[in-house]
Amino acid sequence: MLDDIATFDWQAADAAYHLHPFSDHKTLHQEKIRIITGADGVFLTDDRGNRILDGMAGLWCVAVGYGRRELIDAATRQMQSLPFYNTFFKTATRPVIALAERLTAMAPGDLNHAFFACSGSEAVDTALRMARTYWITKGKPEKRVIVGREYGYHGSTTLGAAAGGMVDMHRQGARLPDFDHVMPPYWYGYGGQMSPEEFGLYAAKQLETKIKEIGADNIAAFIGEPIQGAGGVLIPPETYWPEINRICRENDILLIADEVICGFGRTGRMFGAETFGITPDLMTLAKGITSGYIPLSAVLVGDRVADVLINETGEFYHGFTYSGHPVACAVALANLDILENEKLPERAARMGDVLRAKLDAALGDHPMVGEIRHIGLIGAIELTSDKRTRRFFEKRGRVGTICRDHCFANNLVMRAVRDTMVFSPPLTISEAEIDEMVARATRAIEATYDAVRAEMA
Ligand SMILES: *Cc1c(COP(=O)(O)O)cnc(C)c1O
Repeated sequence: MLDDIATFDWQAADAAYHLHPFSDHKTLHQEKIRIITGADGVFLTDDRGNRILDGMAGLWCVAVGYGRRELIDAATRQMQSLPFYNTFFKTATRPVIALAERLTAMAPGDLNHAFFACSGSEAVDTALRMARTYWITKGKPEKRVIVGREYGYHGSTTLGAAAGGMVDMHRQGARLPDFDHVMPPYWYGYGGQMSPEEFGLYAAKQLETKIKEIGADNIAAFIGEPIQGAGGVLIPPETYWPEINRICRENDILLIADEVICGFGRTGRMFGAETFGITPDLMTLAKGITSGYIPLSAVLVGDRVADVLINETGEFYHGFTYSGHPVACAVALANLDILENEKLPERAARMGDVLRAKLDAALGDHPMVGEIRHIGLIGAIELTSDKRTRRFFEKRGRVGTICRDHCFANNLVMRAVRDTMVFSPPLTISEAEIDEMVARATRAIEATYDAVRAEMA
């Protein structure tokens, strides 16, 4: 069929044979899906020749933009010399050793060891297993509860989905014992009359309340994304994370920072932990680690947990065939070169402010825009039925879906989370491309507004 690209009906074959992740297949194929055939810089191309501005960097991952020769060459060279060897049997490869050394040197605090896997979900699964193994080794096996947050996203393996706060996932077989959740620091949604600073402390205190309820003696770890990405780019007030640090430390609960989205420059610093002042015991990384060119993830392990795993646990019965895959590690090293040489974290801070100023100018006064928020090159636009009271639409998610479709029709990828439009473009986006992104987003939001008003009339 690849010889017959022009006449083969790719959409029909997709509908017939392919099960998509996170999709309702009945509605998915009512309209023809788009076939993406190429990409360059911040633009995708589809099979009809449209150039689509990728305001999501793939799935939050293509930090250095598409088509980077350096990454392609790194993969090719590694495939030629050694396409695969495992790290189980008293062996390692040079790329995995070099990457472990480099990541731990870059990371904040005492995250001095690295464990590798292939996806964010596997990294989270690994971090949770490490946290529980730590307490088992310390003779406290009853410390096993993992506390996460509503709207948290920690991947799609069963442990990750249970730690996350997506109720739809819990309902489909991922509600497990020994997982609990607290309120997210979502000021726009839950802050009421409180200032963001007051609300940040209030939301953090919910963890303290939860600890009193289940007992610190039963809790292994708290897991949180510095910014909750898939939950709607919930950017915590400045007061939130320092208080979470304190509560975890005082109650002897391990703190896991899930940096799968925030890591590698997205927030304007190399890691979200630096942006928000988080001092994690474990950190999970994926997505931006290879800019999505090839699957890879890592868990960075702080001295407290690493010392126990290394010196007391004995064998840690956990790992993946492709842990530390040499090709993926070689690509990650080349990707880190680009991030550092082109100072992409600093660039994200600068260009994020440019993007925000332009969004404010174009959409800040729009009656359907309740809030625009951002840090670095990650942000959100809250669509509202009442700007003054920050009210949500009646049927959550419907208007967001309309807006997402208008974005797509305007050749812009922005994702809808409920009625919150979220964006995270490649960190290489230029000012002219930002202008184009804002123009397309504005057209999409105005078209959405017209559609919603027409319905109400
Ligand atoms: C995407 C994501 C994951 C899961 O990563 P996969 O590579 O899809 O398994 C975990 N945590 C966070 C914060 C994510 O955004």
